[in-house]
Amino acid sequence: MNKIIINKVYRDNNKLCCDIEAGGVTKTLYAEVQEEFAPYLTDDRADGFFVICVFKCIKEHWELESKVPVSTRLYYQVQNYMMNVYCEAYNIEPFNIKAPTIDSELNSEGGVGTGITCGVDSLYTIACHCNIGGSECLPQYSLTHLVLMNIGSHDIGAEETNTLFANRVKLAQDFCNEFGFKFVKIDTNFRTFLPYDYTEYHGIANGSTILLLEKLFRVYYSSSSYKISEFKLNRYDVSQFELFNLAVLSTNNTTFYTTGGDVSRYNKVKKLVEWTPSYNYLNVCNSYSHNCSERECVKCCRTIIELDALNALDKYKSVFDIEKYEAHKNEYLAEFYARKVLRNDHYAIEMWDDLMKKYTIPFNYKVKALVHFVLSRLRIYNFKQIRTLLKLSH
Ligand SMILES: [Zn+2]
Repeated sequence: MNKIIINKVYRDNNKLCCDIEAGGVTKTLYAEVQEEFAPYLTDDRADGFFVICVFKCIKEHWELESKVPVSTRLYYQVQNYMMNVYCEAYNIEPFNIKAPTIDSELNSEGGVGTGITCGVDSLYTIACHCNIGGSECLPQYSLTHLVLMNIGSHDIGAEETNTLFANRVKLAQDFCNEFGFKFVKIDTNFRTFLPYDYTEYHGIANGSTILLLEKLFRVYYSSSSYKISEFKLNRYDVSQFELFNLAVLSTNNTTFYTTGGDVSRYNKVKKLVEWTPSYNYLNVCNSYSHNCSERECVKCCRTIIELDALNALDKYKSVFDIEKYEAHKNEYLAEFYARKVLRNDHYAIEMWDDLMKKYTIPFNYKVKALVHFVLSRLRIYNFKQIRTLLKLSH
């Protein structure tokens, strides 16, 4: 059976490195931060790297041995809870993990952090844990640091990965400068080690990456994209059981919380339209670093319509192309109508009453959108393709 051996964890300037042998190949995993945060890179234990390697071993059916100590609490939680639950999800037998443990508490900076992508979930979490824009939060739980990490999510856009990450860094940095948060940028090479669908590992890799800065963060909020009522063991999207993952990852130094799982997406947007810091920063597009505002872009289209249903379009005119939307409004609304009818899209359903108080979608637009939706699911995008298919079937 192949094996991963964690040999060494060490600091190399602004990088925290981990030398491993994986399946007979020697490799160095690393996470790099800005110089000011380098002293917080936690090199006396393997915690974050350890969890990433456990996940890799579960995926590949490998064994794991760490020569670097792991926090006792984390080791216990991984061996006794994560192992059983993930092995059930992957339908494999639990296996033993060898690692020395360490109990000493770290000298923590006591930071409170969360990720900043400027999407709805992320801004909602920030709005709930700060004292700006009319929000109120206990000082011990108010955010001090906002984090943008590169562990794979920027690989799924239409823009070139490095450009997309650089542009998102700028947006996050601007937000932090304007509203007085410290900005932490974490660049990693984990993507090369985890060549899987991003949704399969991001929930576990996000938290693991934060553990590499265990000396910095006392509290870290993860923004939930699922409601807690949708909690489900799902190997294809680990964020669906995030509550479990964050309990496994919490150590005596860093406590993780999931935020937003008790609120629907539409209610998050409702909070944001009353929270002024979101007006110039809301950024939901998966494909580009700006909001493309295209009808075909599910995230942009959905968000513009939500803002319209809440009479808040004007507030976001610097981040969405409102003119384009106004000029083609029936097409956008009909697109959503098709998603509601044919996909039972719960995002469309929860805002539908508010939307229909304002608009009536013309019948011909509805029919066109339904036909377009069905054809696009069959991967037919124009009439030339239909003609070709008809010819082939003769
Ligand atoms: Zn878009």
